[in-house]
Amino acid sequence: MKPEQALLKQLPAVDRILRAAPLAALAERVPHRILLEAAQQTVESLRRAILQGIEAIDPAQLEIDRVATTAAAKAEAKMLPNLRPVINATGTLLHTNLGRAPLSEAALAAMAAVSRGYSNLEFDLESGERGHRYAHIEELVCRLTGAEAATVVNNNAGAVLLALTALAKGREAIVSRGELVEIGGAFRVPDVMAAGGVALREVGTTNKTHLRDYREAIGEATGLLLKVHTSNYRIVGFSSAVPAAELVTLGREHGLLVMEDLGSGMLLDLTEFGLPREPTVAETVAAGVDVVTFSGDKLLGGPQAGLIVGRAGAIEKIRRHPMARAMRSDKLTLAALEATLRHYLDRTEAVREIPVLRMLAASATEIEARCQSLASRLAANLGEQARITVIPEPSAVGGGALPLTELRGFAVALSPRGLTVSDLAARLRRARTPVVGRIQEDRLLLNPRTLAPGEENDLLRIVTEASKPGSEAQ
Ligand SMILES: *Cc1c(COP(=O)(O)O)cnc(C)c1O
Repeated sequence: MKPEQALLKQLPAVDRILRAAPLAALAERVPHRILLEAAQQTVESLRRAILQGIEAIDPAQLEIDRVATTAAAKAEAKMLPNLRPVINATGTLLHTNLGRAPLSEAALAAMAAVSRGYSNLEFDLESGERGHRYAHIEELVCRLTGAEAATVVNNNAGAVLLALTALAKGREAIVSRGELVEIGGAFRVPDVMAAGGVALREVGTTNKTHLRDYREAIGEATGLLLKVHTSNYRIVGFSSAVPAAELVTLGREHGLLVMEDLGSGMLLDLTEFGLPREPTVAETVAAGVDVVTFSGDKLLGGPQAGLIVGRAGAIEKIRRHPMARAMRSDKLTLAALEATLRHYLDRTEAVREIPVLRMLAASATEIEARCQSLASRLAANLGEQARITVIPEPSAVGGGALPLTELRGFAVALSPRGLTVSDLAARLRRARTPVVGRIQEDRLLLNPRTLAPGEENDLLRIVTEASKPGSEAQ
């Protein structure tokens, strides 16, 4: 008999594996089909390994307890939700791949409260008649932005598409060449306009656009004047753009609506935290812009949503457009959005309760202290297994907001011994609660700015486990 055949004969049968203690212990909690699949896959991968002879198989690996333990780990992994929490140690606040803005406690509670049972989503409690789902947030948004009216859709890309279609379909929107933004993925201003049936009329040049460029382009076909906030890049140097207020004056002269896509859309002036001066939504509304759109899950710090605020007539047109129904926000979003917006009624409360604002506001000194504590605890756990230092490391806001802004801060730099930094990062991604840091050369940077309160202990445990040679993090 060939050695492979001898090994294949030793492979335990699937039903024996299922009866073995490690899998039997899971039977109550894990559906049978998952256990079966895990056992079959474990046997199958061992069989393949034997036949391919890639690794010399140690017969001890084929013992029933070893095989069943591997299968049990596989079954446990299958029980984890696919979409699950991740610890963001990148320091990037609005990490689109990691779900952008974390929500406040009040926003989470509001979602649970309205979805556990029924709610007055479209029921007017005063009259007992049918109500409007956006009424719950409209007054609040108007109070915070000074707008006459407001509505919400699924995200800001949808808000821009819907507003353009509802207000300028079949006509032209005049846009500066310096503002033809690509946000990432499929969102490019020219493409969105095409999809909305609005013809693009580019004016000016990449670096300079003047008011006269807009004026000269206005004609029979003009539907609206569009301004797009260059949220993810900046044109610096010999450049100029037309301020919203001047565009508004021009629009008024010609009876044209002016729309601005603000992208992130800040409700507060955050310059005191070292952020650059950006127009807030209220300032843009005050400048007379008729329709303003912005995201719910960027610097606003709420759920994914696209807010549209502005003149009552324009908002009504947008709300009545058939496409609005296809972009309708659900009750979970509206509940979280209302709770998030309520924080903004008090600036101090907003900065304390909204995670994105709290993380923005954290000072470099505070981040350094958190790094020192994390570093000394990690060093105590890992001893010779890693070299740990605290280094200056700026944070990015991310999510296409404030591209040139670097928040001064620090990170823990960890160089593992006995495994490569990319192996360590891979182990951290495979942990039950994955940890995502930033790899810089041969070290892993862990930035506490984006950790939730109390997340340090989990991070410490998972990183300690993963840094030990030969172990896998749990
Ligand atoms: C982010 C962004 C969008 C898209 O917003 P989403 O809420 O992600 O759909 C559109 N326009 C600008 C200028 C942006 O910055």
